Amino acid sequence: TISMAVIDKMGHIAVGTSTNGATFKIPGRVGDGPIAGSSAYADDEVGACGATGDGDIMMRFLPCYQVVESMRRGMEPKDAAADAIARIARKYPHFVGAVFALNKIGTHAGACHGWTFQYSVRNPSMDDVEIFTVVP
Ligand code: ASP
Repeated sequence: TISMAVIDKMGHIAVGTSTNGATFKIPGRVGDGPIAGSSAYADDEVGACGATGDGDIMMRFLPCYQVVESMRRGMEPKDAAADAIARIARKYPHFVGAVFALNKIGTHAGACHGWTFQYSVRNPSMDDVEIFTVVP
């Protein structure tokens, strides 16, 4: 899965997800990619979230919607991401997945469960892309 969020010069925020689906997926499986709020969600007023992992579990929780709504209510990206992952892990302790959270001022964080997660960031003040590693 590739999830990407961008903030443009005007402050508009967009997010998208591209996935080839789960390994050994059933032909015709829709998965979490096309479900708004599951693997991607954004709101100009708040920020964005993208997800990767076991879509068949994660789609039941709309974790990206959860992250954006938590940030709307004042949570930092780090806490919002951790909370969304923890909600899933409480019900599915063996799930594998991750989210990144980005707020409208560019603060970002990731949270993961069952694997180590890496995401990359580039903003106008940076010379190159920086890779961030998040451990469960
Ligand atoms: N979320 C994707 C899916 O379940 C898989 C992935 O993140 O690689 O289709």
